[in-house]
Amino acid sequence: MAKNFDVVVIGGGPGGYIAAIRAAQLGFATACIDEWKNAQGGPAPGGTCTNVGCIPSKALLQSSEYYEHAGHDFKNHGIEVQGLRLDLAKMLARKASVVKQNNDGILYLFKKNKVSFFHGRGSFVARTEAGYEVAVAGASAETLVAKHVIVATGSTARALPGAPFDEQQILSNDGALAIPEVPKRLGVIGAGVIGLEMGSVWRRLGAEVTMLEALPAFLGAADEQVAKEAAKAFSRQGLKIHLGVRIDTVKADRKGVTVGYTDAKGEAQTLAVDRLIVSIGRAPNTTGLNPEAVGLALDERGFVAVDDDCRTNLPNVWAVGDVVRGPMLAHKAEEEGVAVAERIAGQHGHVNFNTVPWVIYTSPEIAWVGQTEQQLKAAGRAYRAGTFPFAANGRARALGDTTGMVKFLADAKTDEILGVHIVGPLASELISEAVVAMEFRASSEDIARICHAHPSLSEVTKEAALAVDKRALNA
Ligand SMILES: Cc1cc2nc3c(=O)[nH]c(=O)nc-3n(C[C@H](O)[C@H](O)[C@H](O)COP(=O)(O)OP(=O)(O)OC[C@H]3O[C@@H](n4cnc5c(N)ncnc54)[C@H](O)[C@@H]3O)c2cc1C
Repeated sequence: MAKNFDVVVIGGGPGGYIAAIRAAQLGFATACIDEWKNAQGGPAPGGTCTNVGCIPSKALLQSSEYYEHAGHDFKNHGIEVQGLRLDLAKMLARKASVVKQNNDGILYLFKKNKVSFFHGRGSFVARTEAGYEVAVAGASAETLVAKHVIVATGSTARALPGAPFDEQQILSNDGALAIPEVPKRLGVIGAGVIGLEMGSVWRRLGAEVTMLEALPAFLGAADEQVAKEAAKAFSRQGLKIHLGVRIDTVKADRKGVTVGYTDAKGEAQTLAVDRLIVSIGRAPNTTGLNPEAVGLALDERGFVAVDDDCRTNLPNVWAVGDVVRGPMLAHKAEEEGVAVAERIAGQHGHVNFNTVPWVIYTSPEIAWVGQTEQQLKAAGRAYRAGTFPFAANGRARALGDTTGMVKFLADAKTDEILGVHIVGPLASELISEAVVAMEFRASSEDIARICHAHPSLSEVTKEAALAVDKRALNA
């Protein structure tokens, strides 16, 4: 017998599970279907983000940063460490337990909010008068019928043509987070967010890391000044990054992986490594969803086609997160999930794409919101810029982490903040102030006039805002 719901969500990543919770909060009978399995075959909701993305990568970034601090930086604080030893198995087990806490947390939240959870693959069967019929294929087979369906099936890593992931030598993000021994030589294809984070983890643990990037500019999406500062820091750390390359061949055998590529000067090169991480982007995941059964339209790149409000071509079918256009970020997926649940309830859910923050959790961290200087120039917008270095901040000196700066970009006439770019310690946390400011359409003067705690890294934000008007106080 079919089970009836008001809302069925297919996919339990940050887009789907948050949409399900919000729909249930709004009083809808809600189900969420997710197929992710843990090592024991049980449910592991949370999607890419929880299982092989945001959460495990941040766990390993933290552990590897502690290891690097203990090996290199503690001595500057007068702390001598002897007999430092890496227990990688324990580090990976800790990461797995952090992931499990998050999986369990989501299952608890489903119970608390009375969301019915189905473990298995959800696929469209038909559109009937009663609503959309969705089959669940898992431990047991079920048929669900719902008036509204939210597709939140996420994305999967893209492989290089002719070099499929074996997760032993040629690794996606999945294998990159579970290498059982530190490789002596690690190759990374793609110096984007995921490549830089994974490369940083394994470099800190002792691997010699070489990154190959097709684009001629480093971190093209970031502000150029910030990207340059970050590139200098990464090169000091020993990350080798080659830009403007073309990958020609990838061959794996018992000895390792050999990458044949053409460098930026057009010369043929070879890179021999023990393992290779491929992080060249992600593809929308519609495998098994059976969109044809109901006529759900995909766009030319395979994403579920949606309008600005996440409406698909079908009435009452919505799609959110990585499976639709826009940045592949967990918090963007969550915001879309909430907005869709509220629209179903007749409310005015809204996502402001101009204030979605970007963060790269390397050391130094990189974070930004709004427009870059190169975007403002290209648009012909008159702006004023203010920058302030962490090197002139007391808290950063006390932490022993003075790399980087905060940069403000504000409209030349109105002083409205148009973009804030940070490279430096805890940029991931500092960016929130800029996001709030931009949501409230604040001016740089607003931030400059706000009292910031002393000594704190946030004073660098205030000083950068003051610098827009050329009146920074501590530099
Ligand atoms: C290594 C790495 C690090 C990252 N770090 C960050 C970060 O720090 N911050 C950030 O914002 N973003 C980060 N991301 C991106 C982030 O993980 C994604 O943007 C986010 O997970 C997208 O959420 P989603 O709900 O759209 O999809 P997913 O998280 O991909 O979830 C989709 C879920 O749907 C399930 N599913 C798919 N098809 C079906 C089906 N037919 N039936 C049932 N279930 C199905 C999948 O198994 C999965 O559980 C990272 C990604 C990676 C790979």
